[in-house]
Amino acid sequence: MTERLYYQDCYLREFRAHVVETEDDGRRVYLDRTAFYPTSGGQPFDTGTLGGVNVIEVIDEEERVAHVLDAAIAAGEVAGQIDWTRRFDHMQQHSGQHLLSAVLEELFKIPTVSFHLGAEVCTIDVTAASLAPRQMEQAEERCAEIVSEARPLGISFEDGAAALGLRKESQRTGTLRVVAIDGIDRSACGGTHVRTTAEIGPVAIRKTEKIRGNTRLEFVCGLRALRHARADFRTLQELSRQLSVPASETPALVATQLERVKALEKANQRMAAELAQREGRELWNATAPGADGIRRMVQHAAIDDAMRARAQAFTAEGKAAFLVVSQNPPAILMAASADSGIHAGDRVKAAVTAAGGRGGGNQGLAQGSLPAEADLNSIESGFTTGARTSD
Ligand SMILES: [Zn+2]
Repeated sequence: MTERLYYQDCYLREFRAHVVETEDDGRRVYLDRTAFYPTSGGQPFDTGTLGGVNVIEVIDEEERVAHVLDAAIAAGEVAGQIDWTRRFDHMQQHSGQHLLSAVLEELFKIPTVSFHLGAEVCTIDVTAASLAPRQMEQAEERCAEIVSEARPLGISFEDGAAALGLRKESQRTGTLRVVAIDGIDRSACGGTHVRTTAEIGPVAIRKTEKIRGNTRLEFVCGLRALRHARADFRTLQELSRQLSVPASETPALVATQLERVKALEKANQRMAAELAQREGRELWNATAPGADGIRRMVQHAAIDDAMRARAQAFTAEGKAAFLVVSQNPPAILMAASADSGIHAGDRVKAAVTAAGGRGGGNQGLAQGSLPAEADLNSIESGFTTGARTSD
């Protein structure tokens, strides 16, 4: 059984211990005692060094704590060192979580059901369908008040059978480790915590999200809160600079600009359609009818809305057929006027099926895609020459 030194002293950064067993060629190490926190209760493991070798993961195996190293170490006595920046950040987040959960309970009777401490942000799931923005502000302000009071956080070991007045009842039996924030919270917890609420620093709720009937609150504490606030400010500053308005005016300006872009896109679409129709009519006027009286036009271009409108405008003038051949991706589009005697759908279907592609349409308009190796030239010459004999 590994003695967990962090249970009693969360501020222990250096310790000495004996290697009692190793596995995986000396890379999985068990000690008689450790200050390394293993992933549990929503809090991630500590990193640091054991005998000068990097500790890359710490695993809770109930009785024992396994230290996973990136190289082997020898048996005997070793010195352990905790990466204090990482650990203290975890302490700020974890104590901040206890405080935030206690405050939500105190102000709104909203219980916390789970906690996750992530690399960037922390989350708690609370049993509430939603939280109003005003409630989140109130919770943040109440946290700030208790932080400013520098209330002590105490760790005690108590009998789980007794009435302990915990925020959330514990399922564990026997001795419970109780983490208390003076006057507001008592929770069964195995995590590492700061000494007073002052060390938590700011507690900032970032956003909420509905999760299976509960609400997930994203929050950050301490130095993380400062870093997030700084990053947010820089983003806003950059927006403000690009838009040349004070930061407070950026949301309204962005909304106006988006409206303008939408209106311009609409106008652009309308003009493109008008232009395509005009081009179709002009092409029809400039094309001489064949021996059968049909005007035929072939264009090599991408098949898009404008090209489709142009083809349809061409055939709308009567006695006309229009073929678009696209190289990349290989595809064809065909339009035919009702009085042309040409069925665009049948023609396209026959041509693409013969070439190993697929497509079809109705008498007036049809489209098909072709395999990369299809012979587009023969399809095109079938349209111009074959038409004369068959129609
Ligand atoms: Zn906890």
